[in-house]
Amino acid sequence: MIIKYYGVRGSIPVSGKEYVKYGGNTTCIVIKEANTILVIDAGSGIRLFGRDLIKQNGFSGHKINILFTHYHWDHILGFPFFTPAYIKGNEINLYGETKYNMSVQDVLKKQQQFINFPVELSGMMSKINFFEIKENEEINIGPFTIQTLKINHPGGTLAYRIEVKNTNCCIVTDYEHFSVPDNKLIEFIKDTNILVYDSQFTPEEYPKYIGWGHSTYDEGIKVAQLANAKEIHLCHHAPEHDDDFIDNNILKKAKIKYENVFPIQEGWEIEI
Ligand SMILES: [Zn+2]
Ligand SMILES: [Zn+2]
Repeated sequence: MIIKYYGVRGSIPVSGKEYVKYGGNTTCIVIKEANTILVIDAGSGIRLFGRDLIKQNGFSGHKINILFTHYHWDHILGFPFFTPAYIKGNEINLYGETKYNMSVQDVLKKQQQFINFPVELSGMMSKINFFEIKENEEINIGPFTIQTLKINHPGGTLAYRIEVKNTNCCIVTDYEHFSVPDNKLIEFIKDTNILVYDSQFTPEEYPKYIGWGHSTYDEGIKVAQLANAKEIHLCHHAPEHDDDFIDNNILKKAKIKYENVFPIQEGWEIEI
């Protein structure tokens, strides 16, 4: 599978010369195997993915599967700017949990109410299908097998374990660790090739933000080691953490504890 990071920031997009290395767009991870495309979350990074897809493969004939971890703004706000969704001949499958009596369709419809955005969801010209997914479920999309686990975050988040052939990656973003490592999570990510892990806060900052729903690189390293994860990719960078800060306070310090840890950068593409 090929993984490309189109958005690695948490909370809100940021811009400026101090964010050039790691990037400013919010969560969007694209995973491909042959002709099947999975997109995890539609943060502002999905706009760039839409642009790349059209540039490389033309305007229409695309089938794109978007899976939402949860519906906080930073994970949905890019969808109205996802150009392929406006083009007839494209098919978009949207997968998400029903929460507080709102389905994935309800959530995106609400985001595009006319008072908030000029084109309503029903006015987008592609064929849009909606699928409910739940915790502890296994679904198949093309060659992918995808498992879900509910993890700790205000309102809850779905973590994904995505497998194809003999490789897999796990997406654990918008997650706050507990005081002791979570055995359910360790089991879920066991032996993964790549653990994408929420490290919005540094261990020094974290005590001020208990209950905000995010974790740290050292908690990520702990669960990665317990689960025998090959690499950890730190994601959901705080808007306040500029390139220098991530280099000096996250990358350098995390590397001392664990060699295979990488704060992810927008635009990175890897094949596993
Ligand atoms: Zn988030
Ligand atoms: Zn969130």
